[in-house]
Amino acid sequence: MKLQKTTFKPGSKIRLKDFDARSTSGTTKEEAIAMCEENTTAIDELSYRLYAENTRALLLVFQGMDTAGKDGAIRHVMRGVDAQAAEVHPFKKPSSLELDHDFLWRIHQKVPSKGNIGIFNRSHYEDVLVVRVHNLVSQNEWSTRYDRINDFEELLTDSGVTILKFFLHISKEEQLERLQARLDNPNKRWKFSTADLEERKLWDDYQAAYTDALNKCNTTHTPWHIICADRKWHRNLTISSIVRNTLEQMNPEYPPAEEGLEDIILT
Ligand code: AMP
Ligand code: MG
Repeated sequence: MKLQKTTFKPGSKIRLKDFDARSTSGTTKEEAIAMCEENTTAIDELSYRLYAENTRALLLVFQGMDTAGKDGAIRHVMRGVDAQAAEVHPFKKPSSLELDHDFLWRIHQKVPSKGNIGIFNRSHYEDVLVVRVHNLVSQNEWSTRYDRINDFEELLTDSGVTILKFFLHISKEEQLERLQARLDNPNKRWKFSTADLEERKLWDDYQAAYTDALNKCNTTHTPWHIICADRKWHRNLTISSIVRNTLEQMNPEYPPAEEGLEDIILT
């Protein structure tokens, strides 16, 4: 099964309008669901090995517009992750304590420890997205943050944290349908926020801010993955395949056993 290309050479120009959010990578929903099952089983075993090895970590960063499917993608990937190895951290509006520190302070504390898989629902990228769109700090300040983010991610990579950054790309039409579904379905209404409607009006500003974040922070050590996410099953398949492949490349190993165990006779 050949999936859409999700990464692009650092320095190449990424334009969101070149991506079809409705892409299926030529797969059917049935094929995708079957492959997701296989990925889940593989991720379970690999994450257990990562936990046992206890020397490296994996960090998954999820970004995307409201309703892009961050929660859904996280629920899906988490199905496969060994519970002891998993940490999920949502990043909301910063508290006054957090605002009293530099923007990476709260993020750094949540970086997964060795052996673990950390998941960020939103991240330090909000500090060049919502913060930029709403002028929460001056342009002078936010425009320096791309370099700081690249340095921060390089520090983490050098410290044994592999980072996968996922941008969930949905179309404006799909967002409308999902907002409508949140209004119509009583089980989804808790997710509806009138603030999301205000944010929707700023769609173009957000797309511009995302385009800059994707281009300026698409580094060799931590490239962005652009995930065509209008179809949830395609999103889940693409992400779970990338997580699985990455863990396979990391190839975590069980630590060596104590010496002399073969001579032990239990009585
Ligand atoms: P949700 O992900 O729907 O729970 O919403 C979290 C909200 O927190 C979103 O509206 C984000 O834009 C907002 N948020 C996250 N990080 C920041 C930040 N650094 N500054 C301001 N708002 C933020
Ligand atoms: Mg929300």
